[in-house]
Amino acid sequence: MGGRSDGGRQWGDMPELFRRAPFLRQTGLLIALIVVGLAATITPAPAISGKAHPSPESASLPQGPDATPNFDAALPPDISLARKVRKGDTLSLILTRGGADQSEAQEVIEALRKVHDPRKLVIGDEIILTFERLERYQTGRLLSVELPAGTDYTVRAERVDEDSFKATKTKRALSEDLARATGEIDSSFYLSGAKAGLNADMLAELVKIFSYDVDFQRDVHPGDDFDVLYQRVTDEDGAFVRRGDIVFAALTLSGVRHEIYRYRAPGASSAEYYNTKGESIRKALLRTPLDAIKITSPFGNRMHPIMGYTRKHKGVDFSAPSGTPIYAAGTGKVVEAGRNGGYGIYVRLRHDQTFDTAYGHMRALAKGIRPGATVTQGQVIGYVGTTGESTGPHLHYEVIQKGQQVNPLGVKFAGGRVLNGRELTAFAAERRHVERLLAAQAPTTKVGAR
Ligand SMILES: [Zn+2]
Repeated sequence: MGGRSDGGRQWGDMPELFRRAPFLRQTGLLIALIVVGLAATITPAPAISGKAHPSPESASLPQGPDATPNFDAALPPDISLARKVRKGDTLSLILTRGGADQSEAQEVIEALRKVHDPRKLVIGDEIILTFERLERYQTGRLLSVELPAGTDYTVRAERVDEDSFKATKTKRALSEDLARATGEIDSSFYLSGAKAGLNADMLAELVKIFSYDVDFQRDVHPGDDFDVLYQRVTDEDGAFVRRGDIVFAALTLSGVRHEIYRYRAPGASSAEYYNTKGESIRKALLRTPLDAIKITSPFGNRMHPIMGYTRKHKGVDFSAPSGTPIYAAGTGKVVEAGRNGGYGIYVRLRHDQTFDTAYGHMRALAKGIRPGATVTQGQVIGYVGTTGESTGPHLHYEVIQKGQQVNPLGVKFAGGRVLNGRELTAFAAERRHVERLLAAQAPTTKVGAR
């Protein structure tokens, strides 16, 4: 069904018009001004010859009995609308639902295929369809289709003649700036951070970074502060496209400030996070060998550790929902994995000549965890459970130093790279630079201030 011969199609969803793109509004306004000002006829935007295509004469549109004088003339020569990609959509569906006919949809897809895979649709993305306008809101042929290709590109198919489109791919005019999220922690860092506009991905990274030093279950309390400076990419309209790197972050916990700076040391293959002294925050062993995001979530936060380290208990218990992933606290080798009396399902890792770590009451081992296997820091080795002598789901965690269980909270773990000499001087300069940025950057978002 072409619908061309009946003089076009009537639009039902006017509110969608121009909703997305300010440039469309501006173009419309500009044309309106020109038209009203000169009382001239409109030249339709793309000059294409074709059957249903209005000549410049017919574009000075006939007015119906109820039309306000000049109303039609003030309208732009084409009609654009935005369609949001929904679950299960295909481009063909979106185009035909938007008013294109089958052959137009086919032609557009054929053209787009040369620059972009039209099957790569992202739910929530907006696809802009532009039709020629015949009279009032009656539309003629599909003129162009524009859609995002990833976050950085836009692809556009434009009609070139009666039965074909030409596609182009252009880099979007994205810009990068700094944003700063600060606030006071209300019930959990995760919740307050999210309220301050930090997305889930950034929060996960922050929790991971600070987990070398901070035990999110014990050290973080309501009233503590956070301050995060990060890069973000915005589009032409200033809308958030994606996050960039975390440049700086600070947590002030019970009055103690923990600062980290992202820094790429000269000659290093990648950037790392350093504390104010120029020590990489990466430690040989994690302080919290659990997916801390899970236990800092609003649900997990209400739980409290069952028992701390005592000479009798010899480990630290982390209360966490059953099934929470357990991480290898450090890189090493599995020396025991399986049932072990009161420990239930148990894993022991050997990290070096000095340190072993052990994990008890697991619900299950992760795939591939068996004696002799090597693990890297942060790798999932099993899941929280309540096997063995246990009263509820928790992780029993032991740090064993030269064969003796020690209090994990008291051990000073060896750190990673430490900057010194010229490296430290360069790092200090970078720190001063970040401090100047902080001084100049008022919080973009701020939560929980009382
Ligand atoms: Zn225990």
